[in-house]
Amino acid sequence: MPAPICCGRDARLTDGTEIYPHRAEPAIADKPMWVCDDCGAYVGCHPTTTVALGTLAGPELRRLRRRVHLVIDPIWRAAHRIAPYANAPRKAREGIQRRARQRVYEFLADRLGIPCAECHVAMFDAARCGAAVKAMQHVDYYRVRAWARDREAAARAAAERNATPALSTRTAEEVAPC
Ligand SMILES: [Zn+2]
Repeated sequence: MPAPICCGRDARLTDGTEIYPHRAEPAIADKPMWVCDDCGAYVGCHPTTTVALGTLAGPELRRLRRRVHLVIDPIWRAAHRIAPYANAPRKAREGIQRRARQRVYEFLADRLGIPCAECHVAMFDAARCGAAVKAMQHVDYYRVRAWARDREAAARAAAERNATPALSTRTAEEVAPC
């Protein structure tokens, strides 16, 4: 795994004891982290790997990314409370939220004009954080859901138009992976 780049050079691999010296929990201390010796920015890794979770962030970028989460997360977390799910059983809640989260990120990717693969807050720079907050500020899950359902219906219709018999069972998701 090549080191991520910050301030024009390779970041250095360390662990949580350096980044969080005041937190003794082994769960944090043992975690590999990449740090930039020039600016002090850091990033954690995907579980059990040294693959960086996004790009390195200093205090300012971390603050901006938190702001994006403060705008986005309530949209999908509250998804099960909107009217169409009023009669959904309690055990369906997690599934509704999971799908909502996916749809919220697809919606955001569409608004930002970026591929879904790049639509992770941990990968956003300052400018993209600002654009994301602006794009999602007054959006609720009714709006995201309506957008997603239109898109899913269009993908299904396109699949049916193009379908050979063998492909006719494809789902909208397979047609429009995101
Ligand atoms: Zn740096």
